Amino acid sequence: MLDNIKDAVRKFLSGSSSYEQAVDEFIKDLQKALISSDVNVKLVFSLSNKIKERLKKEKPPSSLERREWFIKIVYDELSSLFGGDKQPDVVPDKIPYVIMLVGVQGSGKTTTAGKLAYFYKKKGFKVALVGADVYRPAALDQLIQLGDLIKVPVYGEQGNYDAVGIAKRGVEKFLSEKYEIIIVDTAGRHGYGEETKLLEEMKNIYDALKPDEVTLVIDASIGQKAFDLASRFNQASKVGSIIITKMDGTAKGGGALSAVAATGAIIKFIGTGEKIEELEVFNPRRFVARILG
Ligand code: GDP
Repeated sequence: MLDNIKDAVRKFLSGSSSYEQAVDEFIKDLQKALISSDVNVKLVFSLSNKIKERLKKEKPPSSLERREWFIKIVYDELSSLFGGDKQPDVVPDKIPYVIMLVGVQGSGKTTTAGKLAYFYKKKGFKVALVGADVYRPAALDQLIQLGDLIKVPVYGEQGNYDAVGIAKRGVEKFLSEKYEIIIVDTAGRHGYGEETKLLEEMKNIYDALKPDEVTLVIDASIGQKAFDLASRFNQASKVGSIIITKMDGTAKGGGALSAVAATGAIIKFIGTGEKIEELEVFNPRRFVARILG
């Protein structure tokens, strides 16, 4: 996406055709670039129509300032999808605060649970982790290791498959011990029946915990599947925020836009590596600037 859009901008600015024509051509290039970056097609059209309208309605400044003006319009419209200019508020507005992490297996959920715990611990909160991913055998061990590393307690019940019960008991225990932020890791894959069962389990955990926030963890490389996936999780348990993992990879990131559009949730963090400290508060300006080059 990055290079394509940069190319489209360059072409637009250096073209010798009329301004109207240049806008039309640019919009086509922009659409192609966004679609090839896995941004949902409907979203691409609504976004590019808005940009086109503004480019045609607003009077372009002198050619010297045209680049900045033009980039600002594309930037404004792209970033408005991510909540505009503001960085997300990641400090809980109440204590205790229960965060439930959902997402498919391999998205980086367990790793992210550890990263979040570390992030909030460093901010001075009393943090605990609950491991309710009962279908991936190593998930609890992985969480316990992360907990040891950052000195955060972990609740889990090895060998028990009752995810709802485990989540409930874990959260209750930590609430009674006056923990301030409790992060619950859930399954990304289910045994029998797969996705329907998984989403049913998410809904049951959600109903049992009534978490303050459900955070959808998605891999930056998820692509076009992001829209549907995010919608389905959103139906099972209302998604309030999104964390995009593996932003250090080569992924194009279009799925992030789609997940935002599908859920109406905001992106709060991005994962930028495998290490526990490699979590950054999402910065819409930086993200869009990266897209525009
Ligand atoms: P889960 O199945 O969703 O719980 O996924 P895991 O937490 O086990 O992560 C799957 C893999 O992705 C592991 O190898 C992690 O180290 C890796 N991973 C998680 N987040 C990131 C990230 O932000 N960047 C990179 N490069 N790898 C990540």
